[in-house]
Amino acid sequence: MIELKQLSKRHRAGTVETTALDAIDLQIEAGEYVAITGPSGCGKSTLLGLLGLLDRPSGGRYLLQGEDVARKSDRELAAIRRGRIGFVFQSFNLVDEMTVQDNVKLALRYGNGSDRQQRARVAEVLDRLGLAHRAGHHPSQLSGGQQQRVAIARAIAARPALLLADEPTGNLDSAHGREVMQLLRELNDEGTTLVMVTHSAEHAAQAARSVRLLDGRILVDAQAEHWA
Ligand code: ADP
Ligand code: MG
Repeated sequence: MIELKQLSKRHRAGTVETTALDAIDLQIEAGEYVAITGPSGCGKSTLLGLLGLLDRPSGGRYLLQGEDVARKSDRELAAIRRGRIGFVFQSFNLVDEMTVQDNVKLALRYGNGSDRQQRARVAEVLDRLGLAHRAGHHPSQLSGGQQQRVAIARAIAARPALLLADEPTGNLDSAHGREVMQLLRELNDEGTTLVMVTHSAEHAAQAARSVRLLDGRILVDAQAEHWA
């Protein structure tokens, strides 16, 4: 599903240039659950942003479902992102001026059917995430755990093949964090390819594969050990 070849990203701030990712080779198959770990500043968010087509690499190649995305226009990238990729962030990134259902509906476009079909899909995902009774609320009226579930509902509304999560439990207490982790695991069990950045060793251990970064390079890439 994902193939990175010598992928690099340099950030420039004024005259200072930081190499956030240094010639990464990485392959992720459809249906995998991969945890990205490593110390603060090692390039985890940069990697996720590149995978999610939110940013462009400085060098190397990125093949997404066999397609070289480097040569695509911004408009083409946006279309690929909308149709195939869902994002969950640590800070939820919900629009507080809108209701929960309108936040989720933001993820849907013409390609996702008529307005009526889109409303039905929004109701379906909110129900799935146990949020049907909060559809008319605004995000600020909800707990952090509920807000993150709204963000997940938005991320999966268009049925993306790839779900990217950047420290999705970072702003949650441990009970709500476990709930979000359970949900992510279910989505992966149903076939969604999942790449999750996490600081938590316990949460990383839920993924079948763990990629550890250090200074923009892959230090360890290991399949989880299975204990009998
Ligand atoms: P992580 O998510 O692992 O904490 P990041 O990917 O956010 O790490 O950052 C990797 C490196 O790139 C850090 O040194 C960070 O300061 C730098 N960096 C990230 N984003 C930018 C940016 N937009 N401009 C300049 N430097 C950045
Ligand atoms: Mg980060």
